[in-house]
Amino acid sequence: MSLFSAVEMAPRDPILGLNEAFNADTRPNKVNLGVGVYYNEEGRIPLLRAVVEAEHARIAAHAPRGYLPIEGIAAYDAAVQKLLFGNDSPLIAEGRVVTTQALGGTGALKVGADFFKRLLPDAVVAISNPSWENHRALFESAGFPVQNYSYYDASNHGIDRPGLLQDLKNLPPRSIVVLHACCHNPTGVDLNLDDWKQILDVLRAQDHVPFIDIAYQGFGDSIEEDAAAVRLFAESGMTFFVSSSFSKSFSLYGERVGALSIVTQSREESARVLSQVKRVIRTNYSNPPTHGATIVSAVLNSPELRAMWEAELGEMRSRIRELRLSMVEQLAAKGAKTDFSFVAAQRGMFSYSGLTAGQVERLRVEFGVYAISTGRICAAALNRNNIGHVTDAIVQVL
Ligand code: PMP
Repeated sequence: MSLFSAVEMAPRDPILGLNEAFNADTRPNKVNLGVGVYYNEEGRIPLLRAVVEAEHARIAAHAPRGYLPIEGIAAYDAAVQKLLFGNDSPLIAEGRVVTTQALGGTGALKVGADFFKRLLPDAVVAISNPSWENHRALFESAGFPVQNYSYYDASNHGIDRPGLLQDLKNLPPRSIVVLHACCHNPTGVDLNLDDWKQILDVLRAQDHVPFIDIAYQGFGDSIEEDAAAVRLFAESGMTFFVSSSFSKSFSLYGERVGALSIVTQSREESARVLSQVKRVIRTNYSNPPTHGATIVSAVLNSPELRAMWEAELGEMRSRIRELRLSMVEQLAAKGAKTDFSFVAAQRGMFSYSGLTAGQVERLRVEFGVYAISTGRICAAALNRNNIGHVTDAIVQVL
């Protein structure tokens, strides 16, 4: 009997399935709004100029490709800390932040989850309802039970504030609470500063450990404003984890560039924590890859390239906003029975459009417009060429 005869087929990734169906669709005006990446006006994933410049310099230097330290490139880790906590962060000066390079935001979450398993083996992990679909799977595979806390209120396309705070209060003390810093995936609906303050109070009172996931810094309002939650928690004196990613902000998806940062209570604590995080990394993949972090580090640490990157990031951010606004305006102008103005208030690439599974199905079957059955669309997959067809189609299925 074969070793694998009892191996069951794992459930298909719904988004990959959607992409396969999209690729097989022969209609010329088909549009894929189910994706999770930023596309430019030409419908392509951009290669940022700042990245190209840094890559030219790197190739010209013919640098050897030795192993990196387990925690990654020191200049990269330091640049990540400044981006997250601010240039003048007292926490950084006091040695209270431990940062390790990671394989994208996902890798940071996984290393953090594995470290948590040693730290709090019996903890409950709480994620927003809804959340990025990998949050649940990732923490479950690290051995934690995962619960939802209320987040999105479909009735007003906003936040279920009372439900959110109550659910956080009801978790067992010392739970791990995963929070989206900005540009919530999948809803696009973000917490405001007052929400964050209330959440902070509950987390502190319950002794919960925040795990802030920031995968879209710079895609919401600005690099600094998008880090407001991280800064607030930093000021509070709490211990917390941050997973961060440059997949979107540097358009470096496949290079796997992210970081795990852990805020401790002292420099001495940091040394012990770092030693354990390094153990987790060492036994998983030994040490991180060189290319992406070298590029990001070169850009962030050069005033000229950094200014270029900030301008390019700003262009991506403004373009998404304009697309959101055009979508709202076109839908209203075409006589949509529903008011879609909430789409313009959402942040980041994703949008809970409010479309039902049945409407999403009709969009695909009748118009070749592909979206996730939850109604999630990627606003960054719209462009001047396809937005007219998309808004025509939406008006038809309402
Ligand atoms: N967290 C959230 C909320 C995300 O949306 C994503 C990516 N879609 C990630 C983490 C993972 O990012 P990366 O691709 O860098 O692993």
